[in-house]
Amino acid sequence: MLSTLKPIVEIQELDMQMMQLMGLKEGRKRDLANIEAVKSDLKFQITAKEHDISDLKKIIRVLEEELTDVKLKLKKLQGQQGAIKKVEEFNALSHEMSQAERDRAAKEQRISDQIDRLNVEEDVLKTLKESLETTAENSKVLAAEIQHGIDRINVEGRELKQKRDELVQETDPEVFRIYDRLLRNKRDRVVVPVENRCCSGCHILLTAQDENLVRKGERLVFCEHCSRIHYWPESVALEGSPAAAKPRRRRSTKV
Ligand SMILES: [Zn+2]
Repeated sequence: MLSTLKPIVEIQELDMQMMQLMGLKEGRKRDLANIEAVKSDLKFQITAKEHDISDLKKIIRVLEEELTDVKLKLKKLQGQQGAIKKVEEFNALSHEMSQAERDRAAKEQRISDQIDRLNVEEDVLKTLKESLETTAENSKVLAAEIQHGIDRINVEGRELKQKRDELVQETDPEVFRIYDRLLRNKRDRVVVPVENRCCSGCHILLTAQDENLVRKGERLVFCEHCSRIHYWPESVALEGSPAAAKPRRRRSTKV
């Protein structure tokens, strides 16, 4: 292998581990966000239910005031009964009183219906609050576990980064720059061995000439198809050779 590629391949392994770690961390963060979403949805439902209940109580209050008025009216009409002399007046009063009675019965029915509704809504609110409490309690443990996992990932990530930074110091800056750019594009291994005459990145067959160039390991060789950098897995003999020390790009491959 080209000696300049050796630390790059080591860095690449660290980068793969780092990407895996970051993927795990994103997953953990999503879990945390889901827990928060469940809680905030419950809180939203509770607020909405509290508004419904407050509205219902207002309606009941208004109905009760109206009922009091009807009852007062009835009392007043009953008081007038004794003073009546004429049949027509008696009939008119009876009519008015039965009207008021119906009115009273209707209001009492509406109040009773609204109270039933209020009871149902208050039960729902109670259940929602209990559910929030349970969720908050259970999620506390889970959230702490997830956070602990994230902390571990961060520690591991810092260790990986430190190793990587040290290795980067040992690399040829030009080769590292090329590697780094390829990695950002592909988010995958970009320095790959040639296996069975194929690029192990994209599995395209190499020409005999390209294979030979990789085997010699005198310069960087890029895959014509996927732009990855090739190395020969068994070529250890050329390591540290003067030719390997000064890498040149074989062709202007888009990276
Ligand atoms: Zn390839």
